[in-house]
Amino acid sequence: MKIGIFALQGAFLEHRIALEKLGAETVEIRRRTHFSDGLDGIVLPGGESTVQGKLLREEGLFDPVRAAIAGGLPVFGTCAGLILLADRLSNDRNVYFGTLPVTVKRNAYGRQLGSFRTDLTVKGIGNYPAVFIRAPYIEEVGQGAEALAEVAGKAVAVRKDSQLATAFHPELTDDLRIHAYFLDMVRDA
Ligand code: GLN
Repeated sequence: MKIGIFALQGAFLEHRIALEKLGAETVEIRRRTHFSDGLDGIVLPGGESTVQGKLLREEGLFDPVRAAIAGGLPVFGTCAGLILLADRLSNDRNVYFGTLPVTVKRNAYGRQLGSFRTDLTVKGIGNYPAVFIRAPYIEEVGQGAEALAEVAGKAVAVRKDSQLATAFHPELTDDLRIHAYFLDMVRDA
């Protein structure tokens, strides 16, 4: 199984390590030529969504990646990756790929709670130690999408068909179960 990890900006190396520990082959995607037909799934890492959106466009990756996700290529977005997938941002006029029917609020936990760690219950996985870094949350989960975890009444993990997204960073913990869940999705696709 070959997973492409977007490596334009942000926390991509940690995803690589997690997926390789689970036996997947990984490739880093920085240019259009790295985004090939041979990928079974892709990861959109955390970082800064505005910068990532700009770099995706500059590298000519934006349209082909959006088309591939819309066509069913399995994708796992974390934090900024969730923002890139969302079809609406409540506090930002940008929309990036817009393939996931959720309304997302950027930097939703404010300054005081900028970064925190909390134990969550993730549907299909169980108790999970979640690390949030200037995280968004999901204000509204649209049709066909399912919330998999919540913090204080707001969804922080969501799935729709072959799209999985979390507001937190599973790649920054030693717990590989969410990456394993994604690889199961890839296998089923
Ligand atoms: N605050 C970032 C954004 O709005 C996301 C933070 C993250 O990916 N850790 O893009």
